[in-house]
Amino acid sequence: MGAAKIEHAVVIVGGGPTGLMLAGELALAGVDVAFVARRASLELAGSRAGGLHARTIEVLDQRGIADRFLSEGQKAQVAAFAAVPLDISDFPTRHNYGLGLWQNHIERILAGWVAELAVTIHRGIEVTGIAQDAGGVDVALSGGGALRAQYVVGCDGGRSLIRKAAGIEFPGWDPSVSNLIAEVEVAGEPKWGIHRDAVGVHGFGKLSYEIRDGEVVYLDGGPARVMVTERHVGSPGEPTLRDLSDALVDVYGTDYGIHSPTWISRFTDMARQAASYRNGRVLLAGDAAHVHYPAGGQGLNLGVQDAVNLGWKLAQVVKRTSPESLLDTYHAERHPVAATVVRNTMAQVALLRTDDRTNALRDTISRLLGMDEPRKRLAADMSGLGIHYDLGDGHPLIGRRMPDLDLITADGPLRVFTLLHEARPVLLNLGEPGSLDITPWVDRVRVVDAKHAGTWELPALGAVAAPDAVLIRPDGYVAWVGGVTQPGLADALTIWFGPAAA
Ligand SMILES: Cc1cc2nc3c(=O)[nH]c(=O)nc-3n(C[C@H](O)[C@H](O)[C@H](O)COP(=O)(O)OP(=O)(O)OC[C@H]3O[C@@H](n4cnc5c(N)ncnc54)[C@H](O)[C@@H]3O)c2cc1C
Repeated sequence: MGAAKIEHAVVIVGGGPTGLMLAGELALAGVDVAFVARRASLELAGSRAGGLHARTIEVLDQRGIADRFLSEGQKAQVAAFAAVPLDISDFPTRHNYGLGLWQNHIERILAGWVAELAVTIHRGIEVTGIAQDAGGVDVALSGGGALRAQYVVGCDGGRSLIRKAAGIEFPGWDPSVSNLIAEVEVAGEPKWGIHRDAVGVHGFGKLSYEIRDGEVVYLDGGPARVMVTERHVGSPGEPTLRDLSDALVDVYGTDYGIHSPTWISRFTDMARQAASYRNGRVLLAGDAAHVHYPAGGQGLNLGVQDAVNLGWKLAQVVKRTSPESLLDTYHAERHPVAATVVRNTMAQVALLRTDDRTNALRDTISRLLGMDEPRKRLAADMSGLGIHYDLGDGHPLIGRRMPDLDLITADGPLRVFTLLHEARPVLLNLGEPGSLDITPWVDRVRVVDAKHAGTWELPALGAVAAPDAVLIRPDGYVAWVGGVTQPGLADALTIWFGPAAA
């Protein structure tokens, strides 16, 4: 690596949804961040993820950018388990729904937000290797360039070079199901919709749509999105039009005259998770840290939320307001969340089998999920609204998302999420105004005196006792809850936002 190295505090490898979100989070925190993206443009071959779950919409709302996504997508009840719908319209959140929006639009909107912030962007360049030492990480680039960073975050997808270069194990399960997915022109009239047979689940959907009066209206003509289960797992190489045609003929007896593909890809139910999300100065987020079957539409959501968990922590470590050990909480909190998703996708794959016994089992599960309590529990998992980081015992809010309550403050009414737009921690005092003195942390933590008139309710848990004060992290999770007295506040401030200023 002889070339001159441009230095940054953080280099993000990969400009997918995870890398983009992390770049935005670090820039908001005032960190010198660059990202390196292999793709020269924002064009994404294929539509991949179909939308956002409620907690991701909330996370975007916490940064004041949810409307950019909501205005381009279609609100819908998207949560489902093994294709059994899970309605969350009775959940206590402003976003009691999911959003149908293709991944290429999600990435474009995120990139638009990142472009408004101070992020150095290297597009059309690939990271070819990294080498870390005690003081930083050297990043080798295609074309012979090089960067140097205090920390590198691999947001470079399931085949992550960064994960491999950092020597991080990726244990898990080999695939048992293989699907081809493609966007193609179709000469004939295919059987639109989802079909199940002895081979598996298959489907044809229209891709072109317009939003008319707030409703998605699919248009005739234009390319189709095809998904077909392959009879055999483990075909080598990149899939071709011939592979797709053969698989369709195997299932439907015809390939409906498919031609002119713009995207053909293969995905399986391989389920793997990085054994550690960090090795020294190298961290992993998104698909680089976990891969699984797309059932339930959770992967992109996980990655965006990994980024929001990591961003503020990495920023504080880079600025030396917090010790490096704060980064270990990233793995401690996010690894279990993805492990739960990996397990639920494995369960869904099992339930999506098409033999009579599995069909009978899915009917039973479907009946169970028709009951309120099981539906709420699982829907809280699938939507991300039930995430609970293990931050210790006490009030049920600790480690859970702060609800977006309506507050009355000296400056007038506002929503809790508005306080999080700048990704800074907030100590919300709902008790006696001025009763919380955190002078040694005022440079880092904003104190807001406010009143809230309504009840406090959490998804799946129901009503919880109204607290007198809550310490909210920049990612919107509650780190500490206070009563009439305030034991533990100084400890919580130190753990999460660094030692008291002298
Ligand atoms: C068919 C299908 C349907 C899906 N549906 C959903 C859904 O409905 N909801 C959902 O939440 N998720 C869904 N997913 C999963 C979702 O697409 C992924 O979880 C998501 O894209 C992960 O984002 P990421 O940023 O972590 O990684 P990626 O999107 O893989 O981005 C990684 C980026 O890094 C770049 N890169 C890789 N290596 C390098 C390198 N060495 N140097 C520079 N750049 C590099 C790549 O070009 C890429 O742009 C689906 C996936 C598939 C396949």
